[in-house]
Amino acid sequence: MAIKNVMETIVQDVLKNNLTQLRMTCTCDRCLDDVRAHALNHLPPKYIVNPEHQPYIRAVHEVNQNEALNVLKIVTQAATVISDRPRCGNI
Ligand SMILES: [Zn+2]
Repeated sequence: MAIKNVMETIVQDVLKNNLTQLRMTCTCDRCLDDVRAHALNHLPPKYIVNPEHQPYIRAVHEVNQNEALNVLKIVTQAATVISDRPRCGNI
C-alpha cells in the first residue's frame, strides 16, 4: 500500500497560492522543484497510508493557523534561497 507525505501537497499549494508575492527571480519547473525540496527538508513530514484521507488531514491542517503560517514562512525562506542562487541556468 502506498504511503504519502501530505506535506508535499500542502507545500505545493502554498507555493502555488503565493507565487506572485514570493517574487522569485526564476519560476521554471526546476526552480519550483528546488523550492519544494528545500521547504520539505525543513518541515516535519506527515505520512498517511490511505491517500483518500488526504482532504480530511489537509482540512485539519488548515484550521491550525500557527502551522499554516509556519509552512508559509519555510516556503518563503526556500524561495529566497533558490532565488539567490537558481540552479537551472536560466538566469
Ligand atoms: Zn529556474
